[in-house]
Amino acid sequence: MNEKGLLIVISGPSGTGKGTICKELLKRNDFWLSVSATTRLPRDGEENGKHYHFLTKEEFKDKIEKKDFLEYAEVYSNYYGTPKSYVLEKLEKGKDVILEIDIQGALNVKKTYKEGVFIFILPPSMEELKNRIVNRGSETPESLKTRLQSAHKEISFVKEYNYAVINDTVEESVKKIESIILSEKCRVKRINDEIDKNFINFKCKE
Ligand code: 5GP
Repeated sequence: MNEKGLLIVISGPSGTGKGTICKELLKRNDFWLSVSATTRLPRDGEENGKHYHFLTKEEFKDKIEKKDFLEYAEVYSNYYGTPKSYVLEKLEKGKDVILEIDIQGALNVKKTYKEGVFIFILPPSMEELKNRIVNRGSETPESLKTRLQSAHKEISFVKEYNYAVINDTVEESVKKIESIILSEKCRVKRINDEIDKNFINFKCKE
């Protein structure tokens, strides 16, 4: 059997709907979502240990020094990081792990954990992304422009990923990601040991 779980890294600019897609994936599958550490303050309704591990800057820096993170990045003046030991432990136990992290973080994971599956969520179009951000109602014309420019810059990194999912509907996007995961599990290089043991090295009894 292929014992090790799959590390599935999902990123995309805010407003693409990646959070909703991840929630739906977790509802329908036996995946494990890594809970990140962050130095940002909790928002209304967010619980420590469930949505994030909320840390002070000192606590976070201490963990950086102890090499406790698989990756970490500074996003909008706060630190975010993926706890290394939990993730590696789950993968070792055969659990498929989802990381919903920003692009810098994903590219860092790609350098150290090449077996990961890197999926980028795109909006249906740039026009639609703009509409979604406008409909949130919290942007001034100036901040809208900045957000769109940064989304555009982030999208230029899509080519570093293995897969791009255009989020027309959540249902379709979830199906696409489930198919990606299923196909990845059938890759010969992932199940090489199992193939060797059960087929290539099989001795026929006379
Ligand atoms: P928010 O503060 O809105 O929850 O998240 C802001 C951004 O940080 C999102 O793009 C989110 O994907 C990213 N993020 C969350 N956790 C991590 C993490 O552990 N590492 C990195 N690199 N980014 C993260």
